[in-house]
Amino acid sequence: MRALTISSHGGLDRLELRDDVPTPELRRPTDVRVRIRAAALNHLDLFVVEGLPGVTITPPWPLGADACGTIDAIGAEVKNVSVGDYVVINPGISDRTCEYCLQGEQPLCVKFGILGEHVPGTIAEHVVVPEANVRVVPTTVSHEPAAAFTLATLTAWRMIVTRARVQPGEDVLIWGIGGGVALAALQICRDIGARTWVVSSSDDKLRRATELGATETLNRNTVDVARVVRDRTKKRGVDVVVDNVGAATWKQSLLTLGKRGRLVTCGGTSGPIVETDVRRLFWNQWSLLGSTMGNDAEFDAIVAELRAERLVPPVDSVFPLDDSRAAFERLAAGEQFGKVVIRVS
Ligand SMILES: [Zn+2]
Repeated sequence: MRALTISSHGGLDRLELRDDVPTPELRRPTDVRVRIRAAALNHLDLFVVEGLPGVTITPPWPLGADACGTIDAIGAEVKNVSVGDYVVINPGISDRTCEYCLQGEQPLCVKFGILGEHVPGTIAEHVVVPEANVRVVPTTVSHEPAAAFTLATLTAWRMIVTRARVQPGEDVLIWGIGGGVALAALQICRDIGARTWVVSSSDDKLRRATELGATETLNRNTVDVARVVRDRTKKRGVDVVVDNVGAATWKQSLLTLGKRGRLVTCGGTSGPIVETDVRRLFWNQWSLLGSTMGNDAEFDAIVAELRAERLVPPVDSVFPLDDSRAAFERLAAGEQFGKVVIRVS
């Protein structure tokens, strides 16, 4: 089959589109095989190309975590999907037997893995996943938003709904609007009825975020974000900060956070090491919340939103499989507003 692969780590020059990758076969009776229609990129894919500590790949390694497609083979014990069904894929793979899995908390699985990182990925003509990792969606949802949907929306849903428990009327600050998780967080907060403060260095991205329902916009190149938030909230600060940037924004995040505030993070794209003044942490009774991916119940919840077309991810651009490198360059440049999608077949 055709697949976008790497055989060693490094820059985007390592990307290799091959047509001799073995088509994956079902491994367990609960597996399904999906013929991929479209795949979407996440920042994670850039990290995989560069190489992640403790993660080893078997060449040629298909990249990609997100995708949609059509089921073309099912194992003998598969119950909920049939050949021909149009599905979205949850890229989080768990063993379903450890204590966390048995509690329904798959993203805490002791053997948790992600498609494209720990198991072969989705920028390929076929991928094999457990039945539990697919959900049927109506064919009225087109391939590009379906492919772009799961990883970012699932991650944002767990952060906003499960971890930070954002309430109607609360103020939520979201860094880096334009990225997939940040945009999904904005849409989820909007639907809850929270007030959203979105930050970017691009006026164009801020304008488009307003069209998606953002309440307040802040250009971090032209204003002191923490000062403006303090002024506009009469020193109260915000209730929740969504910070996936890390080193570059952490200090400002804490300066904007009001009493009893919650800071929720699923990553640190600018660097992982941050500094927190413990005195301000306890005095203001803050909660610092980590989050990653989502569990089966959260996957069901977001797919219900997609089926109802309430949560549809903005798509920035679509590239054919032959131009995959250009898609990765678009993501690496950080200029996208929404998801970068690769059309596979
Ligand atoms: Zn487990």
